[in-house]
Amino acid sequence: MLWQWFHWLGRDLAIDLGTANTLVSVAGEGIVLNEPSVVAVEEGSGRILSGGCAVGHLARQMLGRAPQSILVVKPLAEGVIADFALCEEMLRYFLRKAQPRSWRPRPRVLVAVPGCATPVEKRAVFNSAARAGARVVFVISEAKASAIGAGLPIAEPVASMICDIGGGTTDVAILSLGEIVASQSIRVAGDAMDRAVVEYLKRNYSLRVGLAAAEALRIEIGSAYPLEEELVEEVRGVDAVTGLPRKAILTSEEIREALAAPLEAILDAIRQTLDQCRPDLAADLVDNGLVLAGGGALLRGLERFVEERTGIPTRVAADPLTTCARGTLICLEHLDRWRSALESSDEDV
Ligand code: ADP
Ligand code: MG
Repeated sequence: MLWQWFHWLGRDLAIDLGTANTLVSVAGEGIVLNEPSVVAVEEGSGRILSGGCAVGHLARQMLGRAPQSILVVKPLAEGVIADFALCEEMLRYFLRKAQPRSWRPRPRVLVAVPGCATPVEKRAVFNSAARAGARVVFVISEAKASAIGAGLPIAEPVASMICDIGGGTTDVAILSLGEIVASQSIRVAGDAMDRAVVEYLKRNYSLRVGLAAAEALRIEIGSAYPLEEELVEEVRGVDAVTGLPRKAILTSEEIREALAAPLEAILDAIRQTLDQCRPDLAADLVDNGLVLAGGGALLRGLERFVEERTGIPTRVAADPLTTCARGTLICLEHLDRWRSALESSDEDV
């Protein structure tokens, strides 16, 4: 009986609307969709290619390789909606894919957004999700969702600290009694690291490489802390002087040097968040520690680097690429309990 009601009401959805990846979860089922937040459109008309299907994996394959007549866009490039219309189409596509049966009533949708989203941008998320088919939209900050997903005891009267390093933004937050008590959101994360690698290669090797190649290199041999065995990797690009394609061999020490500035910016954000926090709460963190989440947390040696530089015990969440999505799912499945912690669109039913 209950089961029938559940189906009749339609399945509620949670969306981790990340700058790099969008994950959709269904209440009672888990993560049902995990695709890059990328869209390929035709130059001029702005129409999505392949009959509206060049979204996600398909579009990402075109990144850096498309002819001039095709634009491959990340609608959330810096953690905010850079292109409202495209973001909406992307959401609509993902929602349709995650919930294919059209007879279902419109779902309630919970969306995780970066902490730096302005009220106008949050409104845009409400509107996009509503127009994409949601009956009522709830918004949760990415940091809070990640903290829940990492299993931190955020409802308790002790401080928990999370640092979510995504593609476009790093969100740092200290939480206590279910609320964010101090936070920082900066537009320095994976993409900024890739730009730093591109710059490094240009400066030191006169080699021009694309962002995708820089990302691959960073994932392959990148690190924040000296490795027991340093790594080497070949990278292909175009000679900045001759314009001809050539290769270079890079070491992990060099990539670490290239990543120094973005890593300092992330450390600064962590320090500033600690500074904002009352001393007795900050003192809790000496025991409770800091948890790193988001794909950026997979950088080798990052926990050791952060721990050494801040003095706070640091660990990486289990499966950091899905921490936030799992947090949104927990929240969605216990909406009554978490509702007060969320912002919602006004057309609730
Ligand atoms: P967002 O929440 O902004 O969508 P994600 O949490 O999905 O971001 O993380 C995406 C970032 O994680 C990208 O910058 C990507 O390069 C990085 N990333 C993914 N896997 C790894 C890895 N194994 N090592 C280092 N970085 C990684
Ligand atoms: Mg994220």
